[in-house]
Amino acid sequence: MYGENVSDIAMKTIIINSEENNIKDADLKDAGEIIKRGGLVAFPTETVYGLGGDAMNPEASRKIYAAKGRPSDNPLIVHIYKMEDLFRIADGVSEGALKLAERYWPGPLTMIFKKKETVPDQTTGGLDTVAVRMPDNRIALRFIEAAGGFVAAPSANLSGRPSTTTAEHVIEDMNGRIDMIIDGGSSVIGLESTIVDMTGSSPMILRPGYINGEMIRDVLGDVSYDPAVFGEETEGLRPRAPGMKYRHYAPKGELTIVKGEREAVVSYIKRGIDEALKDGKRVGVISASRDMTDGAASGMERETPGITGRTEADGYGKEVLIMNVGDLRDEYSIARHLYDVLRECDKKDIDIIYSEDFSTPKIGQAIMNRLIKAAGHRVVEV
Ligand code: AMP
Ligand code: MG
Repeated sequence: MYGENVSDIAMKTIIINSEENNIKDADLKDAGEIIKRGGLVAFPTETVYGLGGDAMNPEASRKIYAAKGRPSDNPLIVHIYKMEDLFRIADGVSEGALKLAERYWPGPLTMIFKKKETVPDQTTGGLDTVAVRMPDNRIALRFIEAAGGFVAAPSANLSGRPSTTTAEHVIEDMNGRIDMIIDGGSSVIGLESTIVDMTGSSPMILRPGYINGEMIRDVLGDVSYDPAVFGEETEGLRPRAPGMKYRHYAPKGELTIVKGEREAVVSYIKRGIDEALKDGKRVGVISASRDMTDGAASGMERETPGITGRTEADGYGKEVLIMNVGDLRDEYSIARHLYDVLRECDKKDIDIIYSEDFSTPKIGQAIMNRLIKAAGHRVVEV
């Protein structure tokens, strides 16, 4: 006996290549069987990649927490593929919830309901409520059906790291830790779903996402926010979505968000770069293009993840990485590339990161919610 070493416990992860809308029936069947046996499969959705297990199997939930290194009081979202299944896991589904489902499902909206007893406590982190979503991605919907209809899934990243929006990201974090990864290309939205608590008298947003307050109000005439959505992570202010209390989405480097007039922001960041270089540190800058003279406005870079290493043009050496996260005239492009850019900072061993503010009209609240957490609330106004 030589004891357990890494190769004893590490498993072989099967990687399935598929195009959006197209997964081979045989692969789908294998994926479904892994879930039914209690195993784990990472799968694409329109928001981020999910780390799926059988929502009705407590052992599968335990494995999800273990694979992510996630605290087990942080509940999972149950993914369904057809409306009838909602009533098998949720109680007290209101008229309002049905209206939201009709408008936004399949889509990037998670709703919280009272849970039925059929849902194991391990899946809901001990809560008597359950989070449910029907994703808007054909591979995801077919996979959930093949898996038996109820797939519990958090984002497919190691706990504390930025979420995964490509299969490459999932491989970085999960290779050897789960049974299978289905590659379905890049996530179209790139940020996790909006979470709305439907158990109270009016809908309450616990986590902002693509479906914003305006879009909820448009259907129900009413919406409120959990104060923790805006708040500092202070004691006493306990977020109603337990996951919101953890330091999340964070790159390894120290990220600072710089807000203010463009010129003031640029000069603040330039001073910061000079300081950091003097200390022998590597610096990253996250910004968005805003007009046709900017590099990323030329179509090509908008297609690919928004990283352009414009270091030489800016007169800096390899120690400075200028990253283009998207284009301000298409605010959704910024959401789509945010996690890719944060992960790039880790790959390039960046020590100090500056980002501009992206409080855009529609998805800006969700972008800034994630970015402020990634920055550990370091926001400078200049
Ligand atoms: P993730 O899928 O990794 O974004 O994590 C799921 C998120 O949903 C976490 O922030 C959880 O705290 C939240 N969540 C899941 N179930 C519930 C629930 N029953 N009540 C409130 N928040 C929930
Ligand atoms: Mg997550």
